[in-house]
Order: sequence, then C-alpha cells, then structure tokens
Amino acid sequence: MAERLNHFIDGKRTAPSDGRYFESTNPATLEVLYEAARGNAEDVDRAVASARKAFEASAWSRLTATQRGHLLRRLGDLIGEHADDLALSESLDNGKLLREMRGQMRALPEYYYYYAGLADKIQGTQIPATSLEILNYTQWEPLGVVGAITPWNSPLTLTTSKIAPALAAGNTVVIKPSEYTSRTVLRLAELADEAGFPAGVVNVVTGFGIEAGAPLVSHPSLAKISFTGSTATGSRIASEAAARFIGCTLELGGKSPNIVFDDANIANASMGVVAGIFAAAGQTCIAGSRVFAHASVFDELVERVTARARSIRIGDPLHNDTELGPLAFADQLEKVDSYVKLGATEGATVHAGGKQPEGLELPGYFYSPTVLTDVNNDMRVVREEIFGPVAAIMPFETEHELVALANDTEYGLAAGVWTQNLARAHRLARRIDAGTIWVNTYRAMSPMSPRQGFKSSGVGIEHGIQSMYEYSRLKSVWINTDEGPVSDPFVMRG
Ligand code: NAD
Repeated sequence: MAERLNHFIDGKRTAPSDGRYFESTNPATLEVLYEAARGNAEDVDRAVASARKAFEASAWSRLTATQRGHLLRRLGDLIGEHADDLALSESLDNGKLLREMRGQMRALPEYYYYYAGLADKIQGTQIPATSLEILNYTQWEPLGVVGAITPWNSPLTLTTSKIAPALAAGNTVVIKPSEYTSRTVLRLAELADEAGFPAGVVNVVTGFGIEAGAPLVSHPSLAKISFTGSTATGSRIASEAAARFIGCTLELGGKSPNIVFDDANIANASMGVVAGIFAAAGQTCIAGSRVFAHASVFDELVERVTARARSIRIGDPLHNDTELGPLAFADQLEKVDSYVKLGATEGATVHAGGKQPEGLELPGYFYSPTVLTDVNNDMRVVREEIFGPVAAIMPFETEHELVALANDTEYGLAAGVWTQNLARAHRLARRIDAGTIWVNTYRAMSPMSPRQGFKSSGVGIEHGIQSMYEYSRLKSVWINTDEGPVSDPFVMRG
C-alpha cells in the first residue's frame, strides 16, 4: 500500500477526521506516489483553531520581531540542507524538471533570510497631529490567522512567498496546498517545527479545493486569505473575502506578451521566447504565451523558435539532459490538446508540436512544444490561458499598434520586451499594462522584488518589503500628554 501522509496540525501529524485519503500520482510514470489526507471542514476547523490558539499564546505572541527573524533564518537553513530531497519530491509530484526544482529549492532559503531580516524593520511613525500635547503614532500589528492556498506548479516557492512574510509579521498560518502536490508542503511544516516555531504556528491541511480550500476561506476565525491559482477560483475567493471584510492577496493567471522588436538581438530574443513559453512545459503563470514579433523579423523568429521547439528533448524529468517533462495531470493534457485543436479549426498554422510526442519510454502526460502562427487577438488560443507549451506568434508593424495589441487582454501579470533601443525599453515599460516588465530577459525573480498582477491577474503584492504590509494592519495611537483638565465635551469644535 502507498505511504499515507496526514495533515500537520498543532505541531503533529494528524489523521483526517473522517479517515479518508486520496492518491497522488507521478505524471511521468503514472505510478501512485503516496496517499494524502482528504481534508474536510472539520479538519480545517481544527487547524484554524490551533493557529488561533498559537497566535494568542505567549510562546509566539511574546516573541520579539528579531526572535521571529531567528526562527525564519533557521527554517531557511533547514530547507537548504534538505533542498535536494525537496526538489526530488516536487519533481516526482508535478513532473517539472528535477534540475529546475533543484534550482528553486536551493534559492528558497534566500526568501526566508530576506523576510527574517525584514521582521524587525517594519516601523510605525510619529505624526504631528492636532496639537503639541497630543502624541500620535502608528504601529504595525499582525492580522491573526492567515490562510494560504497554493497551486501545484511551484508548490514550495509559491507557499513561501506567502508564509515567509506572514510569519515575519507575526501571524500564524494554515496552508492548503494543491491536491496534486501535498508532500513538500507537509515537509515544510515539519521543518518549521524542527526550526523551533511553536506548535500551531504553521499548519497544513491537504485535500481538494471545494472540500478543504473553501471551508478555509469561509472560516470565521480567518483574518486574511492569500491565494495563488486560477483567475476563476481567485474570483470566488475574492467574493467570499469581501462578504466577510477580510483582506485577500491574489496571484492569478496570465497571458503575457513577449515582444520582439526589429532592433533586438534576434538570437537572444528567440532564446527568451523559447524560455518564456517552454520552460516548465508552459505551466507557469508568467508564461510568455503571446509572442509579438516586428513584421521584418517575424519569419526569422518563427523559424528559430520552431527549430528549437522541435529539438527540445522530451522525457524523464529526473534526467539531467531532459528539457521538457510531462504536464502535471491528465486534465492538463486534455486542456492543452483541445486548445491546440481549437486553434487549428479557427485557422492557426501549427509549425511544431500540436500533439503528444511519439516513441517515448514513459507513458505520462507529455505534450510536444507547439508553435502557432496565423492567430490573432480574437481567437481563444490567444485570449485564454492555456497553461501549457503553446506559443502563439503574431506580427506587428508599429510600436503604437503593438502597445494596443499587447494590452488587449484581460490579464496583466508580466511582459517581455526585446530591443536594443534604451528609450523604447523605458517607453514600453511604462506603457505595457502588466505588473512585471522584463527587458532583454524573461522569468527573472527575486524575493526582494515586489510583484503584482494587474487586471484579472491579481490583487495585492507578493515579495519585497511591500508584502510585509499585506500581512499587517496599521493602528493609530493618540496619547494626551497634557495632564490638565479635559475640556467640556459639549463644546463642539467646528
Ligand atoms: P486552481 O485555482 O485550480 O487551484 C489552486 C488552489 O486552489 C488549489 O490548492 C486548489 O485546491 C484550490 N481551490 C480550488 N477551488 C477552490 C475553492 N473553491 N475554494 C478554495 N480553494 C480552492 O489553480 P491550479 O490549476 O492549481 O493552478 C494553476 C493556475 O495558477 C494558473 O491559472 C496559473 O496562472 C496560476 N498561477 C499563478 C501564479 C502567480 O503568481 N500569479 C503562480 C502560479 C500559478
């Protein structure tokens, strides 16, 4: 029988209240990896109660900000020590390349170190309010219990983007990881325990969105929900949060433009286009899925990207020379393939891919890197997030036309601009309606650099100093330093 993984609640592995589990499968081999606890409302209630108790208990609430920073630093160290095991677990779970996950896991401690350093640097201010006798100052406080709901494509990194600032700010957390990738987030909670976080500060309830995610969002003791996932789910979560007047941070979908001007270094730009859409088999929110190329370099770009797409080595994500692993689960494969078929019926030309690769030794959910042309902004393959290795390449004539085309989308997560014209780079950075702009690079990321999805791509900021404030509330304190008689309350001021 497959190994069984339980929730992590109040510092302990905790079996699901109704004894139910679900299977997690390796998308490359289709083997069952383990069974995880199938969380329900009762499990969520226990986790939130444990987080609330921990929030109030002196073991956590009486720590100084500097002491919280020490704990985060220790957690970063432990993650660094276990980086290779964590990477292997994530790769087995979601099919992403082991070497990519190793890179992510080795970078992950930096997130904890960064927020460890910020924990004691969030300061209030003294305000020259109404009179010299009044001392008015502000102080930042933690919110309480923060819920974190995350997707499967980069499970620990995306969870860390939420919990590192939330913990640094003094909150406690309940995490609901994706049902496709439960293992490493449970391991993270154990490492937090080993690092010395008091029991109940970090809790994990595994399970499905409707069964475990929804009860977390609607739990009356939740102070804030931080969500990364699809725009459709994000919209439901935002409505629920609004109804209860709790804050939400949402990192949602994208359909990012990757733009190649005629003055770009075409060799670099084609690599940037390939990396933008085929890295992680296109299963990233920031995928550069809409490629715009100036008409004078369009044919050359299509040729270069197509040639590289055809030569991408598809196979076992655990092998060092593999460049593209499988999609994460059967529905993903079905979705990607049906979008490509739809595009073809709408008139798209398929230059590379467009089907599952043949002759692979593994039975998993593989899909060949796909390049489409003869597409436009009216077609669903260009408008909707496919979340797979599918590039739609379109020509443009002028910068003015390009800006209109690039911004003609419901999303606003990221954009790439390839040009050697400095003035144009700055102009485009200002005019493109997206929270992250990369010039002559793509996919760059750092815990230090704030990111925000514009339009349907999100609400609120992750990373950077700014995200500390997403998990804090501001209090204004007024102190009368005048010990004389208080004036008559019925003499109203005008
Ligand atoms: P999803 O919305 O299906 O699921 C995300 C999480 O929400 C999972 O844990 C799921 O169980 C949970 N969930 C589902 N329904 C819920 C509900 N009704 N209430 C509460 N929780 C619920 O998304 P996914 O398929 O796991 O992830 C892919 C999506 O995530 C893509 O759209 C991608 O663009 C987006 N994403 C965004 C970012 C970003 O930073 N902007 C990063 C990675 C992925």
